[in-house]
Amino acid sequence: MKIGCVKEIKKHEYRVGCTPASVAAYVNEGHEFYIESGAGEGSGFSDQEYKDAGAVIVADPKDIWATVDMMIKVKEPLESEYPLFREGLILYTYLHLAADKALVDALVKYKVTGVAYETLSDHHELPLLKPMSEVAGKLAVQEGARCLEKPQGGSGVLLGGVPGVKRGKVVIIGGGAVGINAAKAAVGMGADVVILDKSINRLAYLDDIFGNELQTLYSTDFEIQRQCDEADLVIGAVLIPGAAAPKLVKREYLKTMKKGAVIVDVAVDQGGCIETTKATYHDNPTFIIDDVVHYCVANMPGAVPRTSTLALTNATLAYGLQIATKGIENAIDSPVLSTAINTYKGHVTFQAVAEATGKEY
Ligand code: NAD
Repeated sequence: MKIGCVKEIKKHEYRVGCTPASVAAYVNEGHEFYIESGAGEGSGFSDQEYKDAGAVIVADPKDIWATVDMMIKVKEPLESEYPLFREGLILYTYLHLAADKALVDALVKYKVTGVAYETLSDHHELPLLKPMSEVAGKLAVQEGARCLEKPQGGSGVLLGGVPGVKRGKVVIIGGGAVGINAAKAAVGMGADVVILDKSINRLAYLDDIFGNELQTLYSTDFEIQRQCDEADLVIGAVLIPGAAAPKLVKREYLKTMKKGAVIVDVAVDQGGCIETTKATYHDNPTFIIDDVVHYCVANMPGAVPRTSTLALTNATLAYGLQIATKGIENAIDSPVLSTAINTYKGHVTFQAVAEATGKEY
């Protein structure tokens, strides 16, 4: 199969769909690989590294779109890329189609096979979403710690403390992929860590993993408010699949929080679980309400494209190889790969996308 990868054109997107290691894996299975010159630069991969791995470097991305059977990307194509679609092209990337009717129309019109990272489900997990949650969880503590510094508007507390001085308190709401990674980072820093979840099973798991290194608590409004009062850093990390995040930290809670405390609302991409959340960007990531610093960046992994690209491609490679080597018909018959196929031969083939965009399923 001819496989391609172009440079991401979305603003401030520095990740890339394939690393030199993934190119080598495709080439070793007998595929031809075409990559746009400079595609890996933002993630620290040079054209020479891709060339050494067996890729053909192409100057004009249009030539890649016109040549390949499968295009591997990170973000959904932008409108300027729609005219480059072709019948039968396999597009393997994050698509988020439920919120993007124009892209659904284009994929259907050009009969592109849209294989969406975010819906691929394997053993009740979403393995192509998880790596970005892992990155965001660890970053939440790193960014939160920085926001606590006085020049950033924070209270001036060092999370790990020092001998003779109390450590800072980190309260993590939601103990899933983001929450457990935030907990690892916060425990590693030496902070006093509390993690709240609604799932008793999840709390038991966290308790088994961390033992006495952190405190698990069942999530209720009462407990969340009490923990917020004592927190130096609150991390919002809840998810109710398919729904907007519940507003668990109410506006009035801010009034009794410590002056200069920090909230990092990782769930901002689902509307946020803090009532005062509004989405921010990497170039101006924080705002202050009632003396509480808010950090609410919706694409946190974009701040660390090197790590994020490696984590994402570690997860996408095995499924990509299956599609490339066994063919798209095999993917349609596969119980795992079929969960990622959102459009095929001019039809929407993912029910939630059809419902959200008013298309036939
Ligand atoms: P997950 O499904 O792995 O975990 C969510 C957890 O929230 C579950 O353990 C669930 O039991 C818990 N939960 C649900 N309701 C709760 C409540 N009322 N109180 C406490 N816990 C509750 O999800 P995840 O992968 O950890 O993602 C968490 C959020 O982070 C999602 O909204 C996701 O979209 C977002 N996210 C954002 C970024 C970013 O850059 N901002 C990056 C990755 C993920």
